[in-house]
Amino acid sequence: MKAIGSWLGCFFSVILVVFFLVGCSSLDKNKTAEETETLKVVATNSIIADIAKNIGKDRITVHSIVPVGKNPHEYEPLPKDIKKTAETDLIFYNGLNLETGGNAWFEKLVKNTRKRSNKDYYAVSDGVRKIYLEGKAEKGKEDPHAWMDLKNGMIYAKNIEKQLSAKDPKNKAFYKKNRRAYVKKLNVLHNKAKREFGDIPTKKKMIVTSEGSFRYFSRAYNIPSIYIWGINTEQEGTPRQLERLISRLTDSSIPVLFVENSVDERSMKTVSKDTGIPIYSELFTDSVAEKGRAGDSYYAMMKWNLEKIISGLSQ
Ligand SMILES: [Zn+2]
Repeated sequence: MKAIGSWLGCFFSVILVVFFLVGCSSLDKNKTAEETETLKVVATNSIIADIAKNIGKDRITVHSIVPVGKNPHEYEPLPKDIKKTAETDLIFYNGLNLETGGNAWFEKLVKNTRKRSNKDYYAVSDGVRKIYLEGKAEKGKEDPHAWMDLKNGMIYAKNIEKQLSAKDPKNKAFYKKNRRAYVKKLNVLHNKAKREFGDIPTKKKMIVTSEGSFRYFSRAYNIPSIYIWGINTEQEGTPRQLERLISRLTDSSIPVLFVENSVDERSMKTVSKDTGIPIYSELFTDSVAEKGRAGDSYYAMMKWNLEKIISGLSQ
């Protein structure tokens, strides 16, 4: 009896141990699944975050450091941004002199979180044909707004796909399929833009915005642009800058002005008042729109810009 009792005791102990081990291993499994199956991605702004999400879909989680509607040139990362950057698998930034304002905020962030270039963080603009501010072809003087040309958006998508696949090779085919479908969609819009801008009469063909963020757009779609200030890291709306634009617009046939969603609109309002040219619409340049509003993705903001510019300049 005693022998049977100790045998039973032993048997139950074994069962318990087995249950415990199974329990542990399934717990471990869950933990690993969470940690490895969803790649953690940090993007410096909402445009890059959106392109990444279109390629990674449910296999990645993305945190955009600069919030929607805010200026990505100058930013002060919050404690949550620093934490997310420190813990992430992969970081995407624009490069080309975008995240350099506010005392080089991105450089400080990656330095403080001990992240390494081309190991932990990657410039999505790698491979684009650069345009320089005021024609100065030197490092640190690049115009960062490369995404304003949809062909460059396609390069961003390709760079993002490459790094997602490198960090998460088991989903390589998935990322490739998504990137291909996404690029196809962007390409349709790109070709539409090229066709439709051609129909605007030359004397009306001019995009007027606050920041000079349309250089890549101008080159891609053959439509010139002028602005109040060159880039959001310099002084915005000084009397001299306003005067320069107002004198350009006086006696011109330019029908409308535009204002961007991520800048202070007061300067453009002054230009409108002084020239009598109306502000036709908001445009999206440095950020997508708030979720649920028109322009709340890279594709949607480019589509919005395209439609508003065409209808505005056809006035
Ligand atoms: Zn900008």
